[in-house]
Amino acid sequence: MDRSELLKALEACAQCSCGCCKDGCLIYGTMLEEQMSARGRNSIILAYLKGQIQPDVRMARTLYSCLLCRLDEENCLARIPNADICESVRQEFVSKGFGLLPEHVPLVASLKNYGNPWMQPKSVRGRWVRQAGISTEHQSHTLFFAGCTFTMSPELTAAPIAAAKLLMIADEDFSVLGKDELCCGSTALRLGDRKMFEDLRGKNVKALTQYERVVTSCAGCYKTMSLDYVFDGSAPDIIHFTQLLSELLESDKLRPSALDVKVTYHDPCHLGRQSKVYDAPRDVITRIPGVEFVEMKNSREHSRCCGAGAGVKTASPQISLEIGKRRVEEAARTGAELLVSACPFCEQNLKEAAESLGSEIIVMDVAELLTMACMQDPV
Ligand code: SF4
Ligand code: SF4
Repeated sequence: MDRSELLKALEACAQCSCGCCKDGCLIYGTMLEEQMSARGRNSIILAYLKGQIQPDVRMARTLYSCLLCRLDEENCLARIPNADICESVRQEFVSKGFGLLPEHVPLVASLKNYGNPWMQPKSVRGRWVRQAGISTEHQSHTLFFAGCTFTMSPELTAAPIAAAKLLMIADEDFSVLGKDELCCGSTALRLGDRKMFEDLRGKNVKALTQYERVVTSCAGCYKTMSLDYVFDGSAPDIIHFTQLLSELLESDKLRPSALDVKVTYHDPCHLGRQSKVYDAPRDVITRIPGVEFVEMKNSREHSRCCGAGAGVKTASPQISLEIGKRRVEEAARTGAELLVSACPFCEQNLKEAAESLGSEIIVMDVAELLTMACMQDPV
């Protein structure tokens, strides 16, 4: 957003000042401090843009407290784009040297040194490819883009491996980049490091335009590539893996056997509210015979964030865990045995939350659930 758009939106919020954005805001609900709500944060940003207050550490902490989950925007009758405001001002803070938070600095240094935010050498990124029994040599018009977090966190690699298995079962031709895959830039963009984001975007656009179609299981990569990327030439089709799975099930290329299990689904903010992909994951789950699907009280547009987004987990892990625990408790109240999602950040945080609660609910990716059904003998 440019400065005049920012000022217009912030003035509109100040005039309304209703505070409906606090309803359901998990950060405000956890911290109970006005400046951690969209209304409070907006009034501070407005004062800063008008030169009434100077940027300081407290203001930076306020800016980086937001999950950018956009739940508040569902409740805001004035339709104030609070997440875009926050993201824009984070960028200004970084460019003027007032951001990042110290906790975020290693993530951005890692993006520069290794092409991923998790301080791991590139070779780690290629491990899942060997585990899945596929090769980076094979060339296809479709690229499966696995993403940093799914490939570099040992507790999450089952998801891209399951995705590759499903593509092979469906006889879909696809390429993978293995250790040569680079971060999509989502982390840099959400933290406000525009320069780093543009660097990663430029390199990725060059690589992705070699393909007609790019499929990713990561909700953050999907949102970033489909909504935040500008392609210089002809853009490939960017689709989320659940959308492809839905098509493969519809065309009978995947024929799941029955699973006797009760399942609920957590909408990742990047896939749901931000990209409006609500139906595809539900379609995949409900096409598995025998699965009893139950919605949580807060789902689709009203889904609660897992608590891990936009750098909050790195800066305030305890707050992320508390928010994750609330979501796991909500899932458990449905009586579901499985809590399924479609994003590595959600899966990771919800797994940690379930463990911390001692909950019996099992957290997994949609691809893992469908692989269980497709690898069984037909009944
Ligand atoms: S609901 Fe919207 S207009 Fe009202 S205070 Fe919150 S952000 Fe401002
Ligand atoms: S985007 Fe989410 S965390 Fe941030 S103020 Fe809105 S509801 Fe709260």
